[in-house]
Amino acid sequence: MKSTPPKVHVIGAGVVGLTTALLLRIKGYDVTILAKHFPGDLSSDYTSPWAGARWKTMAPNDDPRLQRYDAESFKIFWELAKCRAGETGIMVVPSFDYYEKPTDDQRNPWWKSVVPGFQVIPKHELPPKTALGYRFTTVLINPERYLKWLQAQFVALGGKRIHIALSSITEAMDDEQNSVDIVINCTGMHSAWLGGVKDKNIKPIRGQNVLVRANHIRRTISMKTKDAYTYIIPRSDGTVILGTTKEEESTNTKPNKALAKDIMERAVKYCPDLTNGKGIKRLDVVDHIVGIRPGREGGPRVENEFKTSPSGKPILVTHNYGHDGSGYQSSWGSAKHTIQLVEEGYTALQARSNKIQTLLARL
Ligand SMILES: Cc1cc2nc3c(=O)[nH]c(=O)nc-3n(C[C@H](O)[C@H](O)[C@H](O)COP(=O)(O)OP(=O)(O)OC[C@H]3O[C@@H](n4cnc5c(N)ncnc54)[C@H](O)[C@@H]3O)c2cc1C
Repeated sequence: MKSTPPKVHVIGAGVVGLTTALLLRIKGYDVTILAKHFPGDLSSDYTSPWAGARWKTMAPNDDPRLQRYDAESFKIFWELAKCRAGETGIMVVPSFDYYEKPTDDQRNPWWKSVVPGFQVIPKHELPPKTALGYRFTTVLINPERYLKWLQAQFVALGGKRIHIALSSITEAMDDEQNSVDIVINCTGMHSAWLGGVKDKNIKPIRGQNVLVRANHIRRTISMKTKDAYTYIIPRSDGTVILGTTKEEESTNTKPNKALAKDIMERAVKYCPDLTNGKGIKRLDVVDHIVGIRPGREGGPRVENEFKTSPSGKPILVTHNYGHDGSGYQSSWGSAKHTIQLVEEGYTALQARSNKIQTLLARL
């Protein structure tokens, strides 16, 4: 790295932007996050606070890139749970996952050696109408606490933050001194609308959940049936997320009462001890929440582009967005890949500039 570190603008302070910005800062880059929302803000425009959030990979058996993101992230979360559990809100719990009609991928999960204690549950212990179940140990993340922790680490290392809503990515390419070298785009689903990006492959996926208080639940459960995906995800503060829905192309952020009732009924069916077998009326409901997952055809976009700033300076743009329902569980792996691309892209940018200087020197 040159003696003055490259200046980077990261757009976005969700889990993806914060993780990427923190890793860049650890590597010595001069990093400023530009974002409309930061940890502590609660807006339907900002997905990260609404997540479950747990590590239960959805990377397909034939996608080594996504597998790498998730496996690398699991390692980091596991270590954070060991030494920073209180600050980060990360918990280690047993996970029980059931399938009514499992796919080939689900029958032969690529990740069984990534998590500790993976076991197929014997048939006689499965819930009714369930063809497959497994048990393993995983990590659960309390988004509110974890996002604030990421931000605090970034700021403690000298990272800077600017509250701003950009209408185009080009607005992040210049500062007063024209000293920006690299822009990282971590705008999640907003990459569908951000000028200079407008990615048509973004497909928002609405998720409605119910937050209840149930301090005694210390395991996570999921059940995949033909019609629904149900999960129970406890958090470090004694609350539990009951979910979920996956409504494609919907950005309606108002909770739907009928959906909430259905979610609660499914949750107590698969985890009756939520109310000691007394049904949904005994649930201590804290909130009804809706978040929009940044789905994307083709998976997350982690990619370099070379652009020119409005003032004429060559700029490296590295994208890292479109993580759908996996933004937490893939965050460290996709940030690591982004930084590899930044290093390659910045080297190429410098080589271009050096070539001109060499040519001029030869004249
Ligand atoms: C109900 C639900 C459950 C989920 N459960 C899980 C789970 O269990 N495990 C898991 O791994 N993931 C889960 N997810 C997915 C996860 O929440 C997302 O993948 C992740 O939060 C996406 O993060 P992000 O940083 O890309 O986007 P966001 O959190 O949306 O952040 C985008 C950032 O970009 C900024 N921004 C956008 N446009 C602009 C602009 N024009 N100008 C300035 N700033 C801008 C925003 O202000 C914000 O700071 C879940 C999601 C939902 C909705």
